[in-house]
Amino acid sequence: MFRKPLRMYEDCPHCGIHFEREDGYFMMSVFVGYVMSFIIGVAVVIALYLTIRPSIWGYLIGATVALVLLSPLIFHYARVIWLYIDQLLDPRRENEK
Ligand SMILES: [Zn+2]
Repeated sequence: MFRKPLRMYEDCPHCGIHFEREDGYFMMSVFVGYVMSFIIGVAVVIALYLTIRPSIWGYLIGATVALVLLSPLIFHYARVIWLYIDQLLDPRRENEK
């Protein structure tokens, strides 16, 4: 789906489907990204709690650094996951590109 970080193909290089089915199609992937970020943030806080038990600022900084570092991955996977969810709920028809 991606030709380089943060750059998507317009159409699938393998089967030719057009990824953006309508204007704003990927707005919902932003919501998927929020959910992913929340889960990652909680995981980081739990990991910190179980290991070094930092002060409250340590949790905040740890979660923020992790999310900033992971944001390109979150961006990519949010879009991939959204495509799967959309395909599940509203499958593309045979003749639809
Ligand atoms: Zn394809």
